[in-house]
Amino acid sequence: MKKIELLAPAGDLERLKIAVLYGADAVYLGGKQFSLRSRASNFDLADIAEGVKFAQAHGAHVHVTVNMLPHEEDMEGLKEYLMELERIGVTAIIAASPTIMMCAKQYAPKLEVHVSTQHSSTNASAANYWKRKGMDRVVLARELTLKEIQETAKHAQVPLEVFIHGGMCISYSGRCVLSNNMTGRDANRGGCAQSCRWKYRLYEKERPLHDEQDLFSMSSKDLMAARFIPDLIQAGIASLKIEGRMKSAYYIATLIKTYRLLIDEVYEKGNLSEERLLWYYQELAKAENRPTAIGFYEGQPLPQAQLYGVNGAGVTQEFIAYVLAYDADTQIATLEVRNNFKPFIEAEVFGPHITTTRFTFAELYDKDGKAMEVAKTPMQIITAKVPCVMEKDAMIRKVMKKDRSAIY
Ligand code: SF4
Repeated sequence: MKKIELLAPAGDLERLKIAVLYGADAVYLGGKQFSLRSRASNFDLADIAEGVKFAQAHGAHVHVTVNMLPHEEDMEGLKEYLMELERIGVTAIIAASPTIMMCAKQYAPKLEVHVSTQHSSTNASAANYWKRKGMDRVVLARELTLKEIQETAKHAQVPLEVFIHGGMCISYSGRCVLSNNMTGRDANRGGCAQSCRWKYRLYEKERPLHDEQDLFSMSSKDLMAARFIPDLIQAGIASLKIEGRMKSAYYIATLIKTYRLLIDEVYEKGNLSEERLLWYYQELAKAENRPTAIGFYEGQPLPQAQLYGVNGAGVTQEFIAYVLAYDADTQIATLEVRNNFKPFIEAEVFGPHITTTRFTFAELYDKDGKAMEVAKTPMQIITAKVPCVMEKDAMIRKVMKKDRSAIY
C-alpha cells in the first residue's frame, strides 16, 4: 500500500526548503499568477523551478495552486503558464475552474490536476464525476465528518486529499463574498481580506444584540485532526494536507516534524496510544496556532470550536535561534538569533533528524568570541557550546511555561 502523503504549505522558497527538510512528501505553493493568495505569493517561475529542483533532490513533489476563478480578462497567458509549470517539473496543479483544468489537460498533459476544495466535493459521486473528467485527485471539502470521509473513500475511484490542520473558512471554503462586499477584494481571485476574522458590533436595527463592549467575530478555531490520522490511513486517503501558506518557517517546521513522526509511528505500530497522542498534541501546540478544534470530523462544530471575539494566532517569542552549523567534535553550535534570550536558560532543539530534546544553554559568544549577557539582535550570528547533538537547519525554542495543547 502506498504510504500516505504529508502535504505542506510553502509561502516562499525558505519555507519550501524547511518543509521538505523536515519531512514533507510534497509542498504546495501559489505562483504570482492565477492563484488565490496571489497577493501574498513570493514565487515567480524561477523560484518555482528552484523549489522543484530542491524538492526532487530530496524525493519530494511540488504542487502549484492555479485555483483562481478566472474572468474573461484573466485568461491571458494561462496556456503558456501551465506549459511552463509542466516543463520545470511541477507534479500537479490544484485547480477550481474547469477552464484551467481543461487547459492543463490539453496543453500540459504531464501535470496532474487536483480538484480544489473550493468545489466542496462531499461524496464519492462528486469525486467520481471529476475522475470521469480526467482529473487525478480530489481535495475533499473540509465540512465532512470522519464517517463521511471513510464512506467517500470506500466508493471513490480517484485519490483523495483531506485537510488535517490549519485555518478554517467560516463559510464553505471559498464560497464567500464577505471580502468582496466589504473591501472590493475578490476572495476567489486571490484577494480575501479575511473579513470574517474582523471584530464586529452586532445590532438588530438600533438595538445592540450584546454588551457594546463585547466584540464579535465569525472566526473558527484552527483545525487539528491528529487523532484521526490512523483512521484516514486505514480509509486509503492519498494525502494529508496542512493549511498555512502565510505561516512562518518555524510554524511549518514544528508541524511537519510532528506530523512526520506521527504518521511514521502509525505505519510502524498500527495505532497510537493515548499517551503518545498527548505528546503529539503538545508538540503541535508549540507552533503559534490559534486555539485548535477538530473541525467537522465528529459532526457539526459546537460553540466551543468558534473564536467569538478573538481573531488571531498572535506571534510568540518562543523561536529563539536557527542552527547554521554544528561541530560534533567541539560541540560548538553556530546560531542565528531570532528572538531575545540569555545564557543559561532552558531550551529545546528539534531538527530534520532530531526529535525535541531539552537542554540548558551555557555561555553565548558573539562573532569576536566575546561572552554575551543577552542575545537580542535578530539575525545576529553567535556561537554556543551545547550539551546535546544538534544539526544544521535545526531550530531552538524557549521552554514554554504553560501548556497550550488544550483542545476540545
Ligand atoms: S472572508 Fe473568511 S470565510 Fe470568507 S473567504 Fe475569506 S477567510 Fe473564508
